[in-house]
Amino acid sequence: MKILVTNDDGIHAPGIEALAEALRGVGEVAVVAPDRERSAVSHALTLHHPLRAECLGPGRFAVDGTPTDCVNLGIHSLLDFHPDLVVSGINRGANLGDDVTYSGTVAAAMEATLMGIPAFAISLVCREGHGDYGAAAAFAARLAGTVVARGLPADTFLNVNVPDLRADQLLPPLITTQGKRRYEGTIVDKVDPRGRCYYWIGTADLAFLDIQGSDSAAISAGHISVTPLHLDLTNRSSIDMLRKWELC
Ligand code: MN
Repeated sequence: MKILVTNDDGIHAPGIEALAEALRGVGEVAVVAPDRERSAVSHALTLHHPLRAECLGPGRFAVDGTPTDCVNLGIHSLLDFHPDLVVSGINRGANLGDDVTYSGTVAAAMEATLMGIPAFAISLVCREGHGDYGAAAAFAARLAGTVVARGLPADTFLNVNVPDLRADQLLPPLITTQGKRRYEGTIVDKVDPRGRCYYWIGTADLAFLDIQGSDSAAISAGHISVTPLHLDLTNRSSIDMLRKWELC
């Protein structure tokens, strides 16, 4: 099994080290990841300036671009194999509910899915700067084997979140739905030393709506959450209603 590993926390983040190490136990691993933290860049693709890749060792490349750039460069230029699987993470912090629309970690798995390569994103639900990646890495290695052996449905990848617990405290994985955050009071506005206002987004610890079967519900109960996501964002249930609108 040949695996491309990437992330959005940057190639020197502890999560990607733990992930690559665990996946080496189940296949051949190459790492192509951003040269610095690129969290919350979502599915951004660099089109207006050239990209550079620095080889840091055998099968290990740092790219001055986004996670989506890394998947593209890895598959089309840098790797000497075509991966059977792309794994993105292990992200420092949750990617639950609406987070998936901002996440660079999740977008890397999306990019692989667009290329027809099975993929999953994996995140550790921990606070900034803390977290033990061991149990999440071990789960990633097990899941990698299963995904490659069984395949994924068309247009589908997995978004995995793992509670920051010891392996013997973790409850079994649940297949979940994408949850929903409660967005309120998430912007801090203050005045800088020169008297100008500044604003800071994303500082609050956001709660989740209590939705049964959701990713956040599984995590709060101590389970690993595995959410199947797909890239067709069409809301099919609204099509009939919209076709009745008189749009011209
Ligand atoms: Mn991140």
